Amino acid sequence: MRYCIPTKRRIRSVKGCYSRYFYAILCLCHCAVLITPPVMFTMWSMQTSTSASSPISPSAAPADWRALPKILLHEHLDGGLRPATLLELCRQQNVAVPADTADGLAAWLLANSNSGSLVRYLTGFGLTVAAMGSVEACERVAFEAAEDARTDGCVLAEFRMAPLLLEPYGLSGEAVIEALLAGLQKSALPSGLIVCAMRTDAPEATLKAAQLAARYAGKGVVGFDLAGAERGFPPAPHKAAIDAARNAGLGITLHAGEADEGSRVLEAASLGATRIGHGVNIMRGPDAATQQAWVDEAKRLGLHFEVCPTSNVHTGISASIAEHPLREMVAAGLSVSVSTDNRLMSSVTMSGELADVHQQAGITRAQLGRMMREAAQASFLPEATRKAALAALAPWDVV
Ligand SMILES: [Zn+2]
Repeated sequence: MRYCIPTKRRIRSVKGCYSRYFYAILCLCHCAVLITPPVMFTMWSMQTSTSASSPISPSAAPADWRALPKILLHEHLDGGLRPATLLELCRQQNVAVPADTADGLAAWLLANSNSGSLVRYLTGFGLTVAAMGSVEACERVAFEAAEDARTDGCVLAEFRMAPLLLEPYGLSGEAVIEALLAGLQKSALPSGLIVCAMRTDAPEATLKAAQLAARYAGKGVVGFDLAGAERGFPPAPHKAAIDAARNAGLGITLHAGEADEGSRVLEAASLGATRIGHGVNIMRGPDAATQQAWVDEAKRLGLHFEVCPTSNVHTGISASIAEHPLREMVAAGLSVSVSTDNRLMSSVTMSGELADVHQQAGITRAQLGRMMREAAQASFLPEATRKAALAALAPWDVV
């Protein structure tokens, strides 16, 4: 928990309709699991009223950015609900809501993130998980995430969720996974599900999540991930879980080098990860020689980095998108792509994220096209789906 306490240092100003946040999903899932419904009601009773003047709205990327074909590899379903859906689901689940409208609820979430109060912050994340506390809700959230990605121009997407977070709400891991897969498969978007385990949990719990994921290998679950607060919770104790997932044929992507140091990227790779969630601290070695050695090894291993720039700004990992290590990672020749992480919490879209790194960090359209190809190649989806996605990326050749 101590790793989730917000500090003034982490508060960053963000351009446009974006707001300021203290954390990314690495804290979200960890925190959410700690909040049971009765606690949430108690916590809301402690809240003050919230202005509805600053609703969260997704970054309004120009139509030409939305039209470009995109590959999305890193998005947490419990961080990406539509505000209106969140409100409706809370009402269906008899979960107390702090606002009567979707805009008001979005504003409340925004105020929580900016309040400097851990209690208020945690309540917002507890809300999204509580809202998903039925199989119908899980299916709807997954379907809408896929449809939102599809209408935003994505031609392939991987979504992730820690199904055991919903056990306190009476849902089995199997029921959650089957509902999420049903939702994803209702959309025409080619997609897959990555099962997350919480690295803050005991190894027995992460092994349980991995064994659960393994039962759905080849049936829509394509990968396994360790999420949750990174610093202080290295991946090595969860080797048995990672091995179980890998032995079942699942792809391994681990959050690493986000809140903790860059060497964690190579530690994750040594445990079997072929993709890294964030990994930006690989560009922040203690000295130039060490950093170069890290980069060289990551390239030798063919690691792919799922970078989520706005999320990193909101968690204080980068002061701004303009100063984000993404540009250095591209220049170093690493295999990198851009993803959203949490659309609701960070108020982003895939097209908006690409437009922002182009306009604010100077990533060229040619570099973005190469990123999308590298993402398609790194996807955990079946080969035929990856090839179809690669073919769909042809419009990048003419931008
Ligand atoms: Zn993430």
